[in-house]
Parts: sequence; structure tokens; C-alpha cells
Amino acid sequence: MTAVHVPGNPIIEAGRLVSTSPATGAEAGRLPIATDADVRQAVDTARAAGEWWAGLGFTGRRARLLRWRALLAKRIEQLAELVHVEGGKPVADAIVEIVTAIEHIDWAARNAGRVLGPRRVRSRLILAEFSANLEYQPYGVVGVIGPWNYPVFTPIGSVAYALAAGNAVVLKPSEYTPAVGQWLVDSFAEVVPEHPVFTAVHGLGDVGAALCRSGVNKLAFTGSTATARKVMAACAETLTPVLIEGGGKDAMIVDSDADLDAAAEACVWGGMTNAGQTCIGIERVYAVEPVFDAFVDRVVARAGRLTVGAEGADIGPITMPGQVDVIRRHIEAAVSSGGRAVLGGPGAVQPPYVHPTVLVDVPEESAAVREETFGPTLTISRVRDADEAVARANALSYGLGGSVFGRRRAVAIARRLRSGMTSVNSTLTFAGMSTLPFGGVGDSGFGRIHGEDGLREFARSKAITRRRARSLLPSMTFERTPADVARLVKAIKVMYGR
Ligand code: NDP
Repeated sequence: MTAVHVPGNPIIEAGRLVSTSPATGAEAGRLPIATDADVRQAVDTARAAGEWWAGLGFTGRRARLLRWRALLAKRIEQLAELVHVEGGKPVADAIVEIVTAIEHIDWAARNAGRVLGPRRVRSRLILAEFSANLEYQPYGVVGVIGPWNYPVFTPIGSVAYALAAGNAVVLKPSEYTPAVGQWLVDSFAEVVPEHPVFTAVHGLGDVGAALCRSGVNKLAFTGSTATARKVMAACAETLTPVLIEGGGKDAMIVDSDADLDAAAEACVWGGMTNAGQTCIGIERVYAVEPVFDAFVDRVVARAGRLTVGAEGADIGPITMPGQVDVIRRHIEAAVSSGGRAVLGGPGAVQPPYVHPTVLVDVPEESAAVREETFGPTLTISRVRDADEAVARANALSYGLGGSVFGRRRAVAIARRLRSGMTSVNSTLTFAGMSTLPFGGVGDSGFGRIHGEDGLREFARSKAITRRRARSLLPSMTFERTPADVARLVKAIKVMYGR
């Protein structure tokens, strides 16, 4: 009996990975599956290419990265169409995703020299006869493992910053979106044809595992927390440093002085864009008692207007067929534990689609509140005040992003959220702000992409001291005398003994 192919699941055929549209099952791309030897070869080749790339310096790399950015901008419709076909995402969402990625390439290219380049830092009195010099040098080869939900934005968040810092990159895209990954690599090769500075290896999870063990000098992982643990364990074998961008269960807090229409609009967008398959998507909302009912009404009205379908709709199919079962389980768990579906519900799950679902009165212990759902669903809970909202929002081990709507206390509440990023009076906007770092805490990972921290993540600091005069208080030499040590003791008491 031959197994029936579920649209969206990749097919393995004659050593090739065939990705398919989750909406229609049509073939989207066909890529060779890498063996362990292929992965090692890719990393060796990248290492040689990386030396050339590092040698270009910040100015040479900047010019080339800006050419790549321009190519992406020129071909944005073509890439958006591929993202749409391969992952099912509406074309408009794909455009927004690519725009954000282009912005990051531009910023990383323009700012790498300023952030990472050699500079003098101040000497201290204790070693005043030396100058202090700092620079950030590339690691060499960075391995990037990416997910399928934002197949352009998430890898670029590591790739652009790693390249700008002077590294070569080997990318392992998700098995659900290999064609998009290869498109990025091919477009880069058009503007940097000299050496394979940015390449891809394709396949299932074992190819990602092989990349962890391949001798890369750093591994940047974006994906689920469960896989992140395996990636870290594999990288520990060779003490390869890792950056982990893991999953999330982001909360939104609606305070009593919030603009409820704006809050509802942002909540529906933040929770349901890309069919809710967003690491920083809003999955839980805590609205304070006085505005709870009015807020829920507004969310239901807006979410109820969203269209669902393959073409031209607001919400596309669930990209990874297996995720539909998780979404169904969470909705059923919410309803069976006393929650109410005020929009959608178990019947909203119609594979490969899930219609917008809004759940209220769901117990905090429910999987719908505690686990990443990754569907167009929201739980909205009534809380006494902002303090209770913060306590509940912070109760999970995840801590990626989040949002606060309100006026007077909103920024203070944002500070108290245990997460790497928070948008005030908007949702998800920190992701597009290339000047700000992006990353989580706890089960959502560690390390940062984007912004200055994101550039430093892909470079190691190199400290150089240089003698500029004879030492008046020689101490780090066997030539020192007891009198020198006595003078040193006296000096340190004068300087720090008060
Ligand atoms: P997975 O963890 O399933 O996969 C992520 C990547 O890891 C894929 O390329 C996958 O390959 C690869 N992989 C699988 N097994 C291994 C292994 N043993 N060793 C090395 N690599 C492996 O995540 P998804 O692709 O399902 O993505 C969704 C998840 O990503 C969600 O949890 C989401 O929150 C998170 N995410 C986090 C973001 C952030 O910035 N914090 C951004 C976007 C998503 P294959 O696909 O072939 O299995």
C-alpha cells in the first residue's frame, strides 16, 4: 500500500528533497539531500571562501551586501511568490517579511564597521603606560539552522549579521522551505560570484545535526525549544558556541487606559498573521477587568472578518501538516477544561486551514495557555489589574517577546515583562527595528540577532594592549624590586583605599 502524500509535507525522491505547497500539494522545489560528508565539504569550502570574504574588510563587504539588498528589493515579488507557494503564507505577508529582511541586510552592512571595527579604548591609571585596543574578528564559518515559518526573515537575521561581521555562512533551511533557502543563496552568489561565501545544505533534521558537528565555528539556531536542546547537546561535543532563538508563548497586556480599538486591531494582527505561525506571535492576552468585555467584543468582531484560503485571503494554510493536530489539541483542551470559544472553536480546524479562534475563561494550567500553539488562536483572560497580568504573563518558562497596550503605566509594565522584547501600543514591531537586538530568555533561548548586539554575536572580541612608555610602577616582571612592590601597595591604597 503506498502512503498518501499530505500536501505540505516534503517528499524524498531519488536523494532529493521535494517541497510541496501546503495548500495544493504542488511541487515548490527539489534540492539534493546532503550526506554527512557533503556537510563537512560545504564547511571546508566555506572556510576558504570566508578567508577571502574577511579579507575584503568592512568596506568591501558593505558594498557587496548592499548589492545583495538591492537585488532582493528588485525581485521582491518573485521571492514573495516562492514563499507563498512553498509555505502557504499570503503574498502580502511574504512581502512584509522580505521588506523586514532587506532592512536588516541594509543596517548590518552599513553599521558593521562602526560596531566591530578596531578602536582605542581608555587606559586606566594602573596601566597608563599601555594603550588599550579593541576589535571584533569574525569566527570563520557560521552554521545557520532555520525554521519554515519565516524562511526569509529568520535566517537573514543571522546570515546578514554573520556575513557583515566577516564570516562565511552555511545554511540548513527547514525541510519545509528549502527552495526559499536556496533562492537566498543563489541570489547572493549573483552579486558575490567570486567565492562560495554563503551556501546551503539540504535535508531533514539529521542534516542540521551534521552541521552542528561539522566544525563550524559558531552555530545560530532558530526553531523549537525541543530541537534547541538537541542542537546545544551536539554543539557541546566540540565546544561550538551556539545562539538559540527558540519558541515562545508571547503575552499581550491590555491596561485600563488602553485604546481598545487599536489594541484589538494589533492583537488580531499579532496573533493571527501568518496563521499564527509566528515565534513572537501573540498567543495569550491578559485584559484588566474594566475593559475585558469591550476588548473581547472588538477582537471577535475583527477576527471574525478575516478570510481564510489559499489565494488572496488573510489567513493561509498551516504550513506543517502535523501542527494542525497540536492546534486542535489545544483548542479542545481549552474547551474541555471550562474555556469558551467566543469565535471558532474545535470546528475551526479544517485541514490544512484553521479559522480564527478566540478562547476565554481558559484555566492557566491548560495547554492552550502554557504551550506554543502556532495557530490563529488567542486566549483572552480577565485579570484584576496590571500586576496580576504581569505575574501571569511571566509565569511560563518561555520569554520571547510581548506587547502592552495602555497609556500611563505601559512602559513600566513593558519593563517588568520577563522577555527579550516588548512592543508598547503595537505588536511584533521590535522585529523590524534593525537598531534593536532580538532574542529571548529562558526556554526562548539566549544570544541576540539584530542591532549592535546582533553584530557582536557573530564576532569575537580581540583585545590588544600596546606599550607606549616605560612603566613607572613595574609589577608584571621578575625585574621588579621590593621597593617597586612597596610603591605599588602605596599607590593602590591612595587610589582605592578610601
Ligand atoms: P524545529 O525545531 O522543528 O526545526 C528548526 C530547524 O532545526 C529545522 O531546519 C530542522 O530541520 C532543524 N533540525 C531538526 N532536528 C535537528 C537536530 N537534531 N539537529 C539540528 N537541527 C535540527 O522548528 P520548526 O522548523 O518547526 O519552527 C518552528 C519553531 O521555531 C517554533 O517553536 C517557533 O517559535 C520557533 N521560531 C523561533 C524564532 C525566534 O526567533 N525565536 C523565529 C521563528 C521560529 P527539519 O525542518 O528538516 O526538521
